Amino acid sequence: MLFDCETFVSHLECSETGERYPADQVANLSKTGKPLLVRYDLDQLVVALTPDTLQSRLPEFWRYREFLPVRHKENIVRLGEVMTPLLNAGSLERQLGQREVVVKDEGRLPTGSFKARGLALAVSMAKELGITRMAMPTNGNAGAALAAYCSKAGIESYVFCPDDTPDMNIREIALMGAHTYTADGLINDCGRFVTAGIDQASWFDTSTLKEPYRIEGKKTMGLELAEQYNWELPDVILYPTGGGTGLIGMWKAFEELTAIGWLTGKLPRMVSVQASGCAPIVDAWERNLTQAEPWQNASTVAAGIRVPVAIGDFLILNAIRESNGFAIAVDDKDIIATQHDIAQQDGLLLCPEGAATAAALIQARERKLIDPDERVVLFNCAIGLKYPMPNDSQSMSLANPPAYAEIVNQSS
Ligand SMILES: *Cc1c(COP(=O)(O)O)cnc(C)c1O
Repeated sequence: MLFDCETFVSHLECSETGERYPADQVANLSKTGKPLLVRYDLDQLVVALTPDTLQSRLPEFWRYREFLPVRHKENIVRLGEVMTPLLNAGSLERQLGQREVVVKDEGRLPTGSFKARGLALAVSMAKELGITRMAMPTNGNAGAALAAYCSKAGIESYVFCPDDTPDMNIREIALMGAHTYTADGLINDCGRFVTAGIDQASWFDTSTLKEPYRIEGKKTMGLELAEQYNWELPDVILYPTGGGTGLIGMWKAFEELTAIGWLTGKLPRMVSVQASGCAPIVDAWERNLTQAEPWQNASTVAAGIRVPVAIGDFLILNAIRESNGFAIAVDDKDIIATQHDIAQQDGLLLCPEGAATAAALIQARERKLIDPDERVVLFNCAIGLKYPMPNDSQSMSLANPPAYAEIVNQSS
């Protein structure tokens, strides 16, 4: 076979047993029911690519194509996968006396969230493998990204959301072309429905970590961060964790970059941030378990991390442990207060999940889990505009307005 993309993918591997599976075939989980990871011929990759070569490429994540599985350029589905900026959160640096706090703002990606990274890869690979119908459960952002990339690729999409998913997300998913259903359950309940329908509905199950390619898309966060930091990574990464694809994906990126010798320094400590109302990974971490127990009655304003069961739990816990990181839970009231403060002081509208990482940093400093001289990266995973916002405006009559002095003297 002749490939026109310079990819070095060699095979798929069971994340639990290491058993090999062929690449270039439709795949979901391994025989033991665990996620499959994409493996590459890194010895060849490092001969073909240097960090200097990257510099001449477009500022989008397809610049890392050698680390990605797509074989043919014609199958790449593009909606503008920009490199996301690193923005200083000066208010937190001052408040905490922290050496450096940077927000990686993923809200700039297509469909307004970093789910675009995973779904760009999953849908491009689906196109390459001839899949014509995809389905998933979602808390909102993944469904929107699936719908958008499938519409672009000419693939049918079916999306199932818990009925209390933010309204904006549900409308967006349907408008972007997915057959959209809201259901009376949580994301894992919707997931069971999708998996049970594979035979009768003939759709491809695109659930988090139940196919091998979304994680490769999320891996680009780690590649991008490494390049943006000139191959010397910061000390701590705080990541709002639902299914954990991003945390596992970044850790995979750092392993691959270490294997080819591009990263030589200490790797960052990976910190899994969850909401107190749904914290299965934090619970497992604190009890020193290797797998998490399902969380009962999950509830939080941070919809993207309301995930009671994560199939990759052992991989998340592994990355935390290997990186010398930790897991930490924050209350919704702290998420909302921190979102407000950062909006007003730094001009950044974080999503609740992103605000959770900032709230976690504050708590971690109090508990001395992070030192003041550590350089910290927070992940803002979606644009804040996709979520309900408080209305702090005041109304007035233009025919009978308040005095200007009254308006500008209000100190609140
Ligand atoms: C999906 C999502 C998360 C969680 O990401 P995972 O990699 O699945 O853990 C966090 N924040 C937002 C906004 C999301 O959409």
